[in-house]
Amino acid sequence: MNKYINKEIEGEDKSGQTSKSVDPGATQLPDFRFSMGKQPLRELPGGTAREVTAREFPVSQNIAAVLMTLKPGGLRELHWHANAAEWAYVIEGNVRVTIVDTQGRLEIADFGRGDIWYFPRGHVHSIQGLGPGSTVAKFLLVFDNGYFSEFATFSVSDWLAQTPKGIVAKNLNLSPEELSELPTEEVYIAQGPTPPILPVASLSGLGTVLAPPLTHKYQLRSQKPFVKSAHGEVRLASAGEFPISTTMTGALMSLHRGGLRELHWHPNADEWQYILSGKIRLTVFASHGLATAVELEPGDIGFAPMGYGHALENIGDGPAELLLVFNSGEYQEISISTVLATQPTYLLKTNLYLSEPVIEKLPKRQEFIAAAHGGRK
Ligand code: MN
Ligand code: MN
Repeated sequence: MNKYINKEIEGEDKSGQTSKSVDPGATQLPDFRFSMGKQPLRELPGGTAREVTAREFPVSQNIAAVLMTLKPGGLRELHWHANAAEWAYVIEGNVRVTIVDTQGRLEIADFGRGDIWYFPRGHVHSIQGLGPGSTVAKFLLVFDNGYFSEFATFSVSDWLAQTPKGIVAKNLNLSPEELSELPTEEVYIAQGPTPPILPVASLSGLGTVLAPPLTHKYQLRSQKPFVKSAHGEVRLASAGEFPISTTMTGALMSLHRGGLRELHWHPNADEWQYILSGKIRLTVFASHGLATAVELEPGDIGFAPMGYGHALENIGDGPAELLLVFNSGEYQEISISTVLATQPTYLLKTNLYLSEPVIEKLPKRQEFIAAAHGGRK
């Protein structure tokens, strides 16, 4: 039933992790924390990439990620992913994307800090750094497949390089000589000039290419919070807010000092977390008397598998901000405060051994983000 508990994890770095095992027969929990900085950096003149998949972070079987940077004019070339949709959040700087759907409809859009995109699986796209000035754009790409890989990423330059020149020439109605400068291997990230300001014409002319019916862009950071309390706030983009994002939901959460995103679980999705600022303690309850707590710092990834109880607490000296990505377009959750508030007193008394006066003090509605006793919103 529980594929994570039954997995033996050997020789792992347990720093920052405290495992608790009440059941003497249970095996150890996997690590729910991974530091993105541990991964090798792929460096090209126009930018860099760091990838983390289920191979390095086994608990995250269904979600993988790439942290990418692009210099102004640096172009992550035209490519598509055979096995995953792509969700992204811009951390710093600005980028331009081009994305084409299966009807040949093109969207060209510029993204700044706090904006997200969603590209359906298999749709071709490019990303280019826009500065401003010498600013290097930094963004996080999240994929709805833990075994996402560069090996299932198809680059246009690689394809043309690997195809006999005669076929490419015939296809494009050109002579082989006219194609003599084509790249002979995958470009991956090319360096060019910073692109001109929008609108720009496509090869077939300005206005002759139809825009897709649904935009791939959503300005997450500038949205009205989904939840706002005295102790933090959450902005959310499920398919309800961002209709093209049918297989993923993203959220930007800020927790004030001491703020606690309460005990809860997600019936329909895994939760992948990335710390933008501050210090967070993630606690995960894995059933069978097993629970763990990990401390997360900027650049760290945390994970709560589907159905696993979890909570996030700001344990730093200042505010904390983190991204949450779910592998479902529908956002669902059940919180401990709701579970308890919906039950009759006699049941809670028998179940949790609490006295009636204490039960009376329990929250009467969902807390969502709580704080220390006396700090109720
Ligand atoms: Mn991509
Ligand atoms: Mn959660």
